Amino acid sequence: MSQNQIESLRAAPLPAFQHIVDGRQVSASDGGTMAVVSPIDGSVLTTCARGTVADTDAAITAARRAFDDGRWSDLPPAARKKTLLKWAELIEANALEIAVLGVRENGTEIGMALKAEPLSAAATIRYYAEAIDKLHGEIAATDPAFLGLVHREPVGVVGAIVPWNFPLMIGAWKFGPALAAGCTMVLKPAETASLTLLRVAELALEAGLPPGVFNVVTGEGAVVGARIADSMDVDVLVFTGSGGTGRRLLEAAARSNLKRVYLELGGKSPNIVFADAPDLDEAAKVAAHGIFRNSGQVCIAGSRILVERSIHAAFVEKLAAHAAAIKVGDPLDTATQAGAVNSERQLLQNLAFVDEARALGRNVIGGTRILQETGGFYMSPAIVADAKPEDRLFREEVFGPVVAVTAFDTEAEAVALANDTSYGLAAAVWTTNLSRAHRMVRKIRAGIVHVNTYGGSDLTVPLGGVKQSGNGHDKSLHAFDKFLDLKTAWVKL
Ligand code: NAD
Repeated sequence: MSQNQIESLRAAPLPAFQHIVDGRQVSASDGGTMAVVSPIDGSVLTTCARGTVADTDAAITAARRAFDDGRWSDLPPAARKKTLLKWAELIEANALEIAVLGVRENGTEIGMALKAEPLSAAATIRYYAEAIDKLHGEIAATDPAFLGLVHREPVGVVGAIVPWNFPLMIGAWKFGPALAAGCTMVLKPAETASLTLLRVAELALEAGLPPGVFNVVTGEGAVVGARIADSMDVDVLVFTGSGGTGRRLLEAAARSNLKRVYLELGGKSPNIVFADAPDLDEAAKVAAHGIFRNSGQVCIAGSRILVERSIHAAFVEKLAAHAAAIKVGDPLDTATQAGAVNSERQLLQNLAFVDEARALGRNVIGGTRILQETGGFYMSPAIVADAKPEDRLFREEVFGPVVAVTAFDTEAEAVALANDTSYGLAAAVWTTNLSRAHRMVRKIRAGIVHVNTYGGSDLTVPLGGVKQSGNGHDKSLHAFDKFLDLKTAWVKL
């Protein structure tokens, strides 16, 4: 990846983007479009289709037909695998072009985007493709007069609704296992991160995925997303996004066909640093990157740092130094470590949390709008060094580069503060005391607890939340459970 390659991709004019439905590009039924605004400089890059209810229905019908006639689900798993591997290869071959396209639309720094978006999506497709012909049904230990066979069957049509922070990575966590399992899909990207998903859907067709198997409909959540959730023809709904939308999806499922709904929601993840952390400077550096990379727009971001009181001052000093060293700016500059905030709306929300902390008299370091002359949406990392459990910042997800630091005195207090949240997505504990590390892993209510590190887990382990962070799991072989149903054959011999 050279800066010159990136600059020529940045300058490339973009076509108007259309939905991908039933193997074809189609415009919105009423001709509607949405402007695609770049957070890099606030300019309008292009447009994409503003999906209607009719567009969504057409995609669901195509997916239903493609599932029911068996053009994909009845193929031998090894044949699906071959097509999916070809798709992964095409994504990899076009990785830089796809990454730059995504950064122009959502502002993630290019170094991270290249790895976390096209390359991770290709790896995810490959992982599930490779696994699908190695999964077996079961023969149950029954009375010998009977044969009990347990089949695993694709669940049918899957609706997927994804957010804007890592559209391809999170999208692939859904479509990788779903398509490998033999399901068909209608996917709705977020309004501010649609282009790369449309591009990989084109590549899916080039790889030989039959028409109607993978459909992408762009548009507003309240129109396209809501229609998918209300549909009688969608069997399973998988979602990553906010808790508010998650609630609406559960209501829609209850109102319609009781489709299963799997939610990956937000977090307010505690990163707990004990005085016996193996290396305080390393802990501060990793904590800074764990909240400030991608401008804090990471579901598992360590947004609450709990620090043992005896090291609080030293830790905050180191954290501030590492935060100040993070280069914020043009996400297409390879030297940038934190790019633009996805939208002006999100930027203003982030700044409002910082202003509120200042108004409460908290010790706030950084957290101002910067580079406004570019027209883009940037802010410096914000540290609130003495956040209190009653502060909104301690309780609500910001989804931006703003961290609450709070001191604690005992292990029991650290556990209580860590669990004092409606969320339960991620956590970390820094300590050299092995017994304490394992005690904390048991006591903290979260889907993943890191020890002496933060983030960076790979595809082989599940990601999912407890409490109001969601249900179900992305990643790992467990992700297949959402897309493969169990069916029993009970045979009298
Ligand atoms: P959001 O809920 O507003 O939007 C997510 C998706 O839902 C978008 O595609 C949107 O168009 C759609 N949507 C919105 N309203 C809808 C409705 N009424 N019916 C159907 N669909 C609708 O969330 P966001 O602002 O895009 O994403 C940020 C949130 O996502 C944060 O809370 C963050 O923590 C969470 N997130 C979670 C994970 C995870 O794995 N747990 C990962 C990334 C982001």
